[in-house]
Amino acid sequence: MNKTTCQYCAGNGYVHVAVGGSETCHYCEGTGVVKDEVVMKQ
Ligand SMILES: [Zn+2]
Repeated sequence: MNKTTCQYCAGNGYVHVAVGGSETCHYCEGTGVVKDEVVMKQ
């Protein structure tokens, strides 16, 4: 499989921000999953 749960939003598709509550995760564009090629290697 070439998809991985987005580590930035933990698969939620959005992230909490200090102002305004939450916004669409720009790493996965709200899908909650990212392709391996764009996942940052730990
Ligand atoms: Zn995400």
